[in-house]
Amino acid sequence: MTSSEKLLWCYGLAFPVYSLGPGPRLGLWVTGCKRGCRGCQSYNLQDKKAGYPLTITQVCNRILSYNNNLQGISLSGGEPFEQINAVSILLKQISGFKILFTGRFKRASRATYL
Ligand code: SF4
Repeated sequence: MTSSEKLLWCYGLAFPVYSLGPGPRLGLWVTGCKRGCRGCQSYNLQDKKAGYPLTITQVCNRILSYNNNLQGISLSGGEPFEQINAVSILLKQISGFKILFTGRFKRASRATYL
């Protein structure tokens, strides 16, 4: 399997999004999270199989289908770090300002800037 065939479990993509960083940007929600935070507002995204698998190439093609006004991407979930290999491959192929929302680090900011 090449890196572009790597699967990323996704719940949804949206463009344009203005509320998750400097926009217009792409919002990408991935599925899968084992953290079990109390009061989770993304409970429906904790099960990886609540989403659907896309190859990195498929995700990139979807992104390219949006107009070239895209200024970056914001990833949320679910927990993007649980698919960090696929997420890393994807982020290397996208230009612009990248923001990753995570619940992984107790003392870190909720947003991790890449
Ligand atoms: S990390 Fe996010 S998705 Fe996962 S349980 Fe915590 S709040 Fe919910």
